[in-house]
Amino acid sequence: DLFYRQLPKVELHAHLNGSVSFSTIEKLVARKPHLNIEHGMTAIRSGQRRTLDEADIPIICQRKRRRGQRAGCFVRTRRRCFQVFKVIHQLVDTEEDILMVAKDVIREFAADGVKYLELRSTPRKEKTTGMTKRRYVETVIEAIRQCKNEGVDIEVRFLVAVDRRNGAEVAMETVKLAEDFMLSTGGLVVGLDLSGDPTVGHGRDFLPALQKAKNCGLKLSLHLSEVPSQADESELLLNIPPDRIGHGTFLHPEVGGSQSLVDKVRKHNTPLELCLTSNVKGQTVSSYSQHHFLYWYQMGHPSVICTDDKGVFCTDLSQEYQLAASTFNLSQEDMWTLSHKAIDCTFAPDLQQQLHQKWLELQPTLF
Ligand code: IMP
Repeated sequence: DLFYRQLPKVELHAHLNGSVSFSTIEKLVARKPHLNIEHGMTAIRSGQRRTLDEADIPIICQRKRRRGQRAGCFVRTRRRCFQVFKVIHQLVDTEEDILMVAKDVIREFAADGVKYLELRSTPRKEKTTGMTKRRYVETVIEAIRQCKNEGVDIEVRFLVAVDRRNGAEVAMETVKLAEDFMLSTGGLVVGLDLSGDPTVGHGRDFLPALQKAKNCGLKLSLHLSEVPSQADESELLLNIPPDRIGHGTFLHPEVGGSQSLVDKVRKHNTPLELCLTSNVKGQTVSSYSQHHFLYWYQMGHPSVICTDDKGVFCTDLSQEYQLAASTFNLSQEDMWTLSHKAIDCTFAPDLQQQLHQKWLELQPTLF
């Protein structure tokens, strides 16, 4: 729908390697034919079944592309979605790959009408190619700078991600890296993300690292209550408190969370980053209409629609806005207000006034 493409948008929850489009994957596959990652291997076609605990199954499911259609894919479970990242990480293991991937992702968000993007990514060391974590971050920053110099119409900021799978010590090192880059990039690195498989590890282990990040001026966006039974962890992490919450699927009492969790979120007015398709395809939410977007939106709580992993879940931000509108019967004016209010949830206060101005200039005709 043209309206949602034209609508200026803010994207606050986008994992770099989850955002790699089908066309970029094709370029990566061509660069690394020795990996034998082909469409046939990365597909779970309809009718095929695999058990959850089968390791290393490439699980991007790609439907055959018909003319004019985007490649379709779906991910059957959250667990499987973490296996997809393993496959993508195999394909993205040099500085050259990171540069291409980051530039492609930034250009694609810009083409979708995103005017402000916060990308997040986990610094990765690759012994085989000599890539270090520091070079990883430098290369993403380089991609952001190159896009800017090429005149791509989008402001981009970066959040350094902590993968919970790697434990407390790595988290602390990552915070130090993020702090260095926050100081040396003149504000391109604005914060820290806590993500990764929510069923692995416990948030309490990351408290010292998160606290340190906060104290040195990094903004915190934490994945919280992405799966049921994380209430204890969320209680602890909400005390920090974070500056934004990723997903927060199981915070409210109707889904096994609690009023006390909701009260904490409301007390600090902590914005939520909500990713409809990701949660439905990852099966933490049973259908679009059951998405917790409605709970928070009706309360007037700051809620920002995001994509999470636009490549893995085959979506884009315009589509997510349109889905929210059609599912919850919201008008174009409501959606305009939602995209406009998202500006206040960014981690770039220095840009907010400029973005508000831009929004007024770019307001599409309401139908
Ligand atoms: P990367 O950090 O750029 O490599 O992006 C992929 C990584 O993002 C994954 O390995 C996870 O750690 C994280 N990630 C992507 N989607 C999700 C999600 O829905 N929940 C938690 N972590 C995620």
